[in-house]
Amino acid sequence: MFKKILIANRGEIALRVQRACRQLGIRSVVVYSEADREAKYVKLADEAVCIGPAPSSQSYLNMPAIISTAEVTDAEAIHPGYGFLSENADFAERVEKSGFVFIGPTPEAIRTMGDKVSAKQAMIKAGVPCVPGSEGALPEDPKEIVRIARAIGYPVIIKAAGGGGGRGMRVVHTEAALVHAVQTTRSEAGAAFGNSAVYMEKFLENPRHVEIQVLADAHRNTVWLGERDCSMQRRHQKIIEEAPAPGIARRLIEKVGDRCATACKKIGYRGAGTFEFLYENGEFYFIEMNTRVQVEHPVTELVTGIDIVQMQIRIAAGEKLPITQRSIERRGHAIECRINAEHPYTFVPSPGRITMWHPPGGPGVRVDSHAYTNYTVPSHYDSMIGKVIVHGDTREQALARMRTALSETVVEGIQTNIPLHRELMNDSNFEAGGTNIHYLEGWLAQRKR
Ligand code: ADP
Repeated sequence: MFKKILIANRGEIALRVQRACRQLGIRSVVVYSEADREAKYVKLADEAVCIGPAPSSQSYLNMPAIISTAEVTDAEAIHPGYGFLSENADFAERVEKSGFVFIGPTPEAIRTMGDKVSAKQAMIKAGVPCVPGSEGALPEDPKEIVRIARAIGYPVIIKAAGGGGGRGMRVVHTEAALVHAVQTTRSEAGAAFGNSAVYMEKFLENPRHVEIQVLADAHRNTVWLGERDCSMQRRHQKIIEEAPAPGIARRLIEKVGDRCATACKKIGYRGAGTFEFLYENGEFYFIEMNTRVQVEHPVTELVTGIDIVQMQIRIAAGEKLPITQRSIERRGHAIECRINAEHPYTFVPSPGRITMWHPPGGPGVRVDSHAYTNYTVPSHYDSMIGKVIVHGDTREQALARMRTALSETVVEGIQTNIPLHRELMNDSNFEAGGTNIHYLEGWLAQRKR
């Protein structure tokens, strides 16, 4: 096992990784920007090194600064968290070339999965069900493009091969709009992602977002840890996640889960990963794979009792998975609410000093957050300041625990989306379970009136 790990991230996930290291008896080094000097994990750190000014381009995305910090602190491995450099194949490669272990998949796997066209091709080959669409990237010939769209059937969605974070997508309803939409998406993708390749998919009108968590070691052992429903989204950003996904037949989930585990073997995947699917009319359609730990990993941890971050570290150290598919039991129901520093109605970010922070507690309640009273939320980064996660024997009990937890939570000095979560936990459609990816935006539009 490693003696020392460098954590190349910030916020709640830096604290989460620090905790996992401590529980495994590993020392950790945190790197931080000038804006994060006061964060909890910096104060709690075994070692902390300031790597640059607030803008992430000069700190959390600064590869030479991170790698040289690993050198001077004698760290053996680097945990990238999520976001920032976590899905950057060049970073993973530079980490390994410099003699450190990258806690994640191989650079090749990150590269294949990071290009959505090659990811989809790998999944089709591995027998994972995908959204019907173009075979690979779209050709230049407009006549060909029209032919492909006719074969798929309207509406279609044009997506950038290099897209991410909900950007680089355009829905097309009619043939008249098609060629222009493809051209626009191409040029936007070229400018935003440095890759102008685009592909086409059938646009599913009312799907749910359901994803499968996998773990794979370097010895070809792979398991899947169940699914998460992340359909409650605003602007393609998840805000509430839960496990299991309400109302989907276990047998179907098991079939898809087994396919994902098998696909990991076929592509030689290593580490934690997530297969994201759209689910509509009883069918699963793969959309993309995330090759890192996800924000919503705690709901899976609560229903399986498996520490996903510790598993990432043990796998990177070369250990064999200590679990088999048959040993994994999923118990009860878990829900996560992402707490963002933003206005609950306008969603305008609300950085600044937290004058009062009272997290909730009690049975089945977990809070992952780096915030505390008098902590100042910097304006330079993502607005998420923590997550409230609950577990119950049933979904009803989990909902009751979340309502109680949210009613106890006090955050003063800044605005948060806690009032929004309180309302949603009492919304009859959310309570019934199984809302689709458009539900929250529709609900918000109605609420404003
Ligand atoms: P990103 O990497 O930008 O998150 P994804 O491929 O995961 O892109 O898609 C993000 C979101 O866009 C999905 O959660 C879904 O809401 C929507 N979306 C993507 N593909 C389709 C599709 N074929 N039909 C309907 N909605 C889609």
